[in-house]
Amino acid sequence: MVRKGSKLSAETKRKIKENHADIRGEKNPFYHKSHSKDTKLRISNKVKELWKDKSYRSRVEPHLRKYHHMEDNPAWDGGKSFETYPKEFKIKRSNIIKRDKKCYICNDTKDLVVHHIDYNKSNNSDCNLLTLCRSCHGRTNWNKQKWKRILELDLLIWKGNKYASDLLG
Ligand SMILES: [Zn+2]
Repeated sequence: MVRKGSKLSAETKRKIKENHADIRGEKNPFYHKSHSKDTKLRISNKVKELWKDKSYRSRVEPHLRKYHHMEDNPAWDGGKSFETYPKEFKIKRSNIIKRDKKCYICNDTKDLVVHHIDYNKSNNSDCNLLTLCRSCHGRTNWNKQKWKRILELDLLIWKGNKYASDLLG
């Protein structure tokens, strides 16, 4: 038992090192694993809740920017991604996933989310919503203008797609 404040001898330190598994990088049991859905949801809800608090935002935002070098980061959207979706969208989301059934980009059928093609979370018209898997959705946070063009254009030339004709007007 090590008393608080007592100095450890070099020998003790060495023993501790030997007896403790090296859990850096690939050796870490958490490596390449992610939080359970439950944990993710709890974290996400907590962040959303905190983000609604203006004083919290003003305290945290400068640090976030600094930490992620957000000023130069094309994925930084001024914290929009932390804003809560309108109620309308929450209802719509499940309908869109039922409509598309799989990720539009990679065809995966697991872990599906609904993407706003124009990145405007209040534009919840059917032709602005597209089902993607979480991993592809992460990709669309970069080069937003490029993805917007690609997905809009794709939908337009997606023959027989009635949402494309909605887009054409
Ligand atoms: Zn995908």
